[in-house]
Amino acid sequence: MSEKTPPRVAIIGVWLESNRQAPTAVQADFRSFYELEGAAILEAARHPNPAITGEAAAFVKTMDATGPWEPVPILLAGCHPHGPIDGALMDDYLAICRKGLAEAGPLDAVYVANHGAMIATDRDDPDGDLIALAREMVGPKARVVVTLDLHGNISERMVSECDLIVGYRTNPHVDYIERGEEAALSLRLMLAGLAEPKSAFIRLPLTPASVNLLTASGPYGAMIDYGTRRRAELAGDILNVSIFGGFVFSDSDKNGVAIIVTARHDLARAQMLAREIAELGWDSRAQFRKKLTPLSDAVQMALKTNRPPVIYADSGDNPGGGGTGRTTELLSALAWAGADNVLVGSFFDPPLAKRAHEAGVGGKIRATFNSHAGLPCDQPFEADAEVVGLHHGTIIGRLGSAQGKTMHLGPSAALKIGGITVVVISERFQTLDPMYFEMFGLDIGKAATVVVKSRGHFRAGFIPWFPPENVYEVDTEGLTSPVLDRRQWQRIPRPSYPLDEDVSWTPPQW
Ligand SMILES: [Zn+2]
Repeated sequence: MSEKTPPRVAIIGVWLESNRQAPTAVQADFRSFYELEGAAILEAARHPNPAITGEAAAFVKTMDATGPWEPVPILLAGCHPHGPIDGALMDDYLAICRKGLAEAGPLDAVYVANHGAMIATDRDDPDGDLIALAREMVGPKARVVVTLDLHGNISERMVSECDLIVGYRTNPHVDYIERGEEAALSLRLMLAGLAEPKSAFIRLPLTPASVNLLTASGPYGAMIDYGTRRRAELAGDILNVSIFGGFVFSDSDKNGVAIIVTARHDLARAQMLAREIAELGWDSRAQFRKKLTPLSDAVQMALKTNRPPVIYADSGDNPGGGGTGRTTELLSALAWAGADNVLVGSFFDPPLAKRAHEAGVGGKIRATFNSHAGLPCDQPFEADAEVVGLHHGTIIGRLGSAQGKTMHLGPSAALKIGGITVVVISERFQTLDPMYFEMFGLDIGKAATVVVKSRGHFRAGFIPWFPPENVYEVDTEGLTSPVLDRRQWQRIPRPSYPLDEDVSWTPPQW
């Protein structure tokens, strides 16, 4: 294409983080979050408070802001973290993308907006399938640029079939916008002939639970800080450093902490830095372990008076990692102990939310939490409750990971059970943002104990009230329990630390 023609960039993506033990993600699960084709993608991306993944919105806005381009929007689908994608549905999405790319005419680039930790019911690397399809359809000369969540599990093919992968660098994730901008600006560099990217890739036999992958401190944060500093020192030579902590619960053969360093031109430079970061991570592997707070300790602490306010992460049941969002273990233990001045949010239970809406504010109901139990760790819990708040559930996040994002939580209610107020929602979101409570006028600053269905992202939304020393990760059962040795693993390559003690790794001899 001539230099004067605005670049034509296709947009595709299937965004899913798969927990192998969670239910299969089917089309209705995507549709309840987003499944967009054609012009609707651009409309969603250009919205001031987008409901789609932030990096895809930022990519489009940054391309808009940095010169002429012709977007060719094909498919963007996204699902809350769930189980493997239904294999037939993945085939349908691939077929839509294949057709769209085939009919698009000449393309200069494809942008792929995926999570990176997707598995399918019939295969382990659907992210790789989509990236490879993009390359196949546009040929070796066009650019393929990918954004991924840092919990992505990276296959060799995902790296080799694209020009650049840009992963998040913060956990809790608060850099979606910067990463979308970075992907767009890097693409502009490539299109201007100022970068001919070469990537080095290393995957370690290291599969920590997500509670060990915070970036403000700890061994993973140290790897990311090191990569950022070295990239600055190698000014100009390194286009991108992305370090993936991975998502252990995908339980796939591409699991393992992964380092991708992309040089502007010089592969040897990328290899050198990738090896440095990998060695740093491997040498600090013993730190990728963490002790949780036993449930009984959490209950005892909740009963104490004259202590600082605390927040509990219900770590076994994080909907943001494929948890059901409706296990009752922690809620029932606090209720039976008679804990007072407690806020619990959020509990995913559409029938209960409906019941509360029918009863109205001030209504007294016999509430059954999790009436549709499906797992051994997933018992129903009954209590007398008063409806103290009702809401339609469409909110805009105001702090942390969800800041500025539109979230549709569905019909929502606040139920009071003795000294505990529980927020019930109808879409399976993790508790990310103070708005989950504030939409009912509940004051987080006055609570003695707050409980969230979230593993780590709540930290960014709740830090004004709860500094890290007042955060407790409670050891509860569920699909996201960070106690890895309680689970039967099927596909993770073994040995792998910390599942196995005796693991060796040597750097690649490129
Ligand atoms: Zn993530």
